[in-house]
Amino acid sequence: MRLRNIKGARERIADSSFTIDEPLNCKGKWKEIFGNDNPVRIEVGTGKGRFIMDLAEANPDVNYVGIEKYSSVLLRAIQKQEERELTNVRFIRMEAEIISEVFDKEEVDRIYLNFSDPWPKERHAQRRLTSSSFLRRYDEILKKDGQLEFKTDNKDLFDFSLMELNTAGWHAEAVTFDLHNDRVMNEGNIMTEYEERFSAKGNPIFKYIIKR
Ligand code: SAM
Repeated sequence: MRLRNIKGARERIADSSFTIDEPLNCKGKWKEIFGNDNPVRIEVGTGKGRFIMDLAEANPDVNYVGIEKYSSVLLRAIQKQEERELTNVRFIRMEAEIISEVFDKEEVDRIYLNFSDPWPKERHAQRRLTSSSFLRRYDEILKKDGQLEFKTDNKDLFDFSLMELNTAGWHAEAVTFDLHNDRVMNEGNIMTEYEERFSAKGNPIFKYIIKR
């Protein structure tokens, strides 16, 4: 997702108390940042942030961090958060590539990836957020029994993502090729902006939950 460049977006994000300004100083300090011992769950590629804010509202005893690389997109999330003022949500504008410099070993309880960019060219495969190189980064920060949940409507990306699991030492706990018609996996499902858009067009939604 890339919105028109919004002038001053970066400064407006930095001014918000819901933004983490210096993520590289946060490693090992997330309990301090939230002021409690609650688990920390992150969404990588949070876009306009609706999913993570709805999740945070439904689970006040869990802390959430939304990570997004584009200021103009993240600004939308920050503006919504400034209206909703959820105390258990923070946002970081950064590239997910540096994630293990921001979260310490086992500091994260769960990772969400929703409608990640497909990077269709083979030579860009390792840029996909579900590639083995990203799974290795997530492995560094996720609790031993932590899990990663991924949703997409892109069949090629989903097939690729399933293939990457073994290479990186992960296994699928649950998989569906039609989330919205899967009674068990759809229970309590919180829709993302992209999920709403693509499911309205009739696209089935694929989801896996994986562990190491
Ligand atoms: N998760 C949202 C949803 O489901 O509605 C947004 C999906 S959008 C297709 C993917 C988002 O991931 C974009 O906003 C993009 O900027 C962000 N993104 C892609 N690669 C990223 C990376 N390496 N680090 C941080 N954000 C990334």
